[in-house]
Amino acid sequence: MVYKWVNNSLNRLLPPRCLCCQQAGQQLCPDCEVELPKLGTRCQRCALPLPQSDRLCRHCLRRPPRFTRCLSAFSYRPPVDQLLLSYKHAGHMANGRVLAQLWMSCCGDDVRREPPDALIPIPLHWRRRWQRRFNQSRLLAEQWGDAFGLVVTDALQRRVHTAAQQGLTAAERRRNLRRAFVLSPRANVTGKHLALVDDVLTTGATANAAAVILLDAGARRVDIWCLARTPDPGQ
Ligand SMILES: [Zn+2]
Ligand SMILES: [Zn+2]
Repeated sequence: MVYKWVNNSLNRLLPPRCLCCQQAGQQLCPDCEVELPKLGTRCQRCALPLPQSDRLCRHCLRRPPRFTRCLSAFSYRPPVDQLLLSYKHAGHMANGRVLAQLWMSCCGDDVRREPPDALIPIPLHWRRRWQRRFNQSRLLAEQWGDAFGLVVTDALQRRVHTAAQQGLTAAERRRNLRRAFVLSPRANVTGKHLALVDDVLTTGATANAAAVILLDAGARRVDIWCLARTPDPGQ
């Protein structure tokens, strides 16, 4: 904790260094910025990388998620995966801030076209929140909320430590995930257009489970906002 504080204070005094190549000058140098794996053509619904953008992926065709769309800026590949891991697990906060800023230049027009009523960070279980001392999704939601003038609300709570998903059928996994979230007491989502915020969308199952809770509680529409999208492992 003290180390982190000293480290953060030093970082404020010293000139910034590029997150990727460590060159002094700026937090992300132009050479490294163009190298970041931007998300190209993708599934209209879940943002899975696809050869064309005007289609749905095979997962969304077979079993459409309950959320309406996913706004994402990066493919979860090097160096974005490393930047996000050191953001979450080593507290390198600048990584999250810089990527969230770039996300706004990618997705800002989409947001302004159909702005949600509120942003909801995907909650961490309190035990993990306590170990990590922050919820990366909440920090992203606050940054985006400030930038777009949107309210951030903790309408969801994590109820249980999500049990290991291995060895379960798809239906059991979905049930397991749905039990992981609960609507916060006093949360009012009726008729609202909401955006769930997370750092990475992997299979989309967790985000979908959270969306189901909100939609079943009366939300009109739920979108997902995430920095990065994992490519389909089968592709
Ligand atoms: Zn660089
Ligand atoms: Zn899809």
